[in-house]
Amino acid sequence: MSAREELQVVWFKRDLRLEDHAPLAAAANGKPTLLLYVFEPELISDPHYSERHWRFVTQSLLEMNGRLQTLNQRIHILQGSVLEILAAIHVHTPIARLLSYQETGLSVTYERDKAVAAWCMQSHVNWQEYQSNGVQRGRSSREGWAKDWHKAMSEPLAEPVWRQLLVAKNQEPHLSEYAIDSELLSSWSVRDPAWQLGGVGAAQHALDSFFAERGKIYHKALSKPQLSRKHCSRLSPYLAWGNVSIRQVYQRLQRERRRGGWGTALSAFNSRLHWHCHFIQKFESEDRIEFEPMNFGYHQFQDEYSSTNEQAWAAGATGIPYLDACLRCLRHTGYLHFRGRAMIVSALCHLMQGRWQFAARQLAQWFLDFEPGIHYAQIQMQVGLTGINTLRIYNPVKQGLDHDPEAVFIKKWVPELSELPPSLVHTPWALGPIDRECLDLNYPNPVVDITEAHRLARAVYWQRRQNPLVRQDINRVLYRHVEKRINTKAQHSN
Ligand SMILES: Cc1cc2nc3c(=O)[nH]c(=O)nc-3n(C[C@H](O)[C@H](O)[C@H](O)COP(=O)(O)OP(=O)(O)OC[C@H]3O[C@@H](n4cnc5c(N)ncnc54)[C@H](O)[C@@H]3O)c2cc1C
Repeated sequence: MSAREELQVVWFKRDLRLEDHAPLAAAANGKPTLLLYVFEPELISDPHYSERHWRFVTQSLLEMNGRLQTLNQRIHILQGSVLEILAAIHVHTPIARLLSYQETGLSVTYERDKAVAAWCMQSHVNWQEYQSNGVQRGRSSREGWAKDWHKAMSEPLAEPVWRQLLVAKNQEPHLSEYAIDSELLSSWSVRDPAWQLGGVGAAQHALDSFFAERGKIYHKALSKPQLSRKHCSRLSPYLAWGNVSIRQVYQRLQRERRRGGWGTALSAFNSRLHWHCHFIQKFESEDRIEFEPMNFGYHQFQDEYSSTNEQAWAAGATGIPYLDACLRCLRHTGYLHFRGRAMIVSALCHLMQGRWQFAARQLAQWFLDFEPGIHYAQIQMQVGLTGINTLRIYNPVKQGLDHDPEAVFIKKWVPELSELPPSLVHTPWALGPIDRECLDLNYPNPVVDITEAHRLARAVYWQRRQNPLVRQDINRVLYRHVEKRINTKAQHSN
């Protein structure tokens, strides 16, 4: 590269794909381009993340590099501070343009982005950030949001002209000190059958099999712990890490709808694609909900909490069988259906005096599809901190009886109860002490009296809901987060 030539850098974050990729498409202009992904120590040690996420990212990146090899391109997979790495590149070859998607992330990535923006300004680097899916930056209200979303979803896919993507040469020497440990990378690349495999190929497979067969009874499977695993799309990790864009899925869905059939299933699925961006938009518009209640009226309440119950919940040892089954299944596989997620949060925060922040962090580590925007907006809604949604306080025994009547799911994940008849699996505490002893039941008693805890939680919730400060903030929350035509009750009761 001559001294006067300048470089373009495409910085991959949660957009780990090569198709429908606006920054890549913009970089394919015949100018030297370096493709970059950085494993950031601050994120790796952040309490929201765990190894399962970095495995998924590694699998995605290695697959992308396999495909890029045929174009003599590759993503430089580095480890360190993004700021330091950009500065090191810039000293060697001035960066003219930094291209990336906007990220609606945790405060840790927001702070990093602010530092990168300041550095770009100071170093005369033009940072072009592209809108991610249907989430808009800088919105103060929701007026017209749905219309904009449909417009963004209907636009042509952003496909790079590959022959115009020019590789930037001689970058290895000065980046070698940031090379990621190859042993770590290869250990992360190994598939663990408990978790969904990362990458565009796996995302495509999930999409194809959903529309070929799995999705036919989608709407009937949504609330079922076993059926949901097969008949829901299972696209969430691929969407969260960007192996596929919402627009790609949306356009595929419209083609499938034109073929006819599966009307109820596809319409339910369509709503959820919309909700994906709708929830992330809440976080984009008010990211303080990572730390505090969305409705300012709830800031006045400081509750005592039970760390014993939190630990029992985190260990899947609450003594409430359906709840423990959901917790253990999630911890082991990285996936749980929507209603199960809502129930485990509700159980901890309403019945067991656990903190919502504790739930948020622990679940983020477990969800392979951890997506900060959906996650925090959903937690706030399920815990009842918005002041606008009708709250559902779940009874985990009733949920088990409704959705796992034969206790097949419970017995799979709580094998301690496998010898009990279905009528007792849901409430093993109904066994008399002699039966317990004879069966040698190695399973704890419930950490709370569910009926009493439920009664108390309802009373507290309704009392707070009437609080003048809570009521006072409702209009602000509505204006900021809800477009009049959206049915928020439906989003709540998936
Ligand atoms: C407390 C709580 C935390 C959650 N945290 C996350 C999270 O971190 N990441 C995440 O992707 N989803 C989260 N969800 C939403 C939802 O549970 C999952 O998106 C869904 O279960 C994923 O399974 P699927 O891909 O088979 O979904 P499908 O039912 O097949 O839906 C397709 C896609 O639509 C989106 N979607 C579906 N339901 C919702 C919803 N209720 N709200 C917003 N988007 C939705 C997802 O991107 C999903 O992949 C959370 C829900 C709750 C109650």
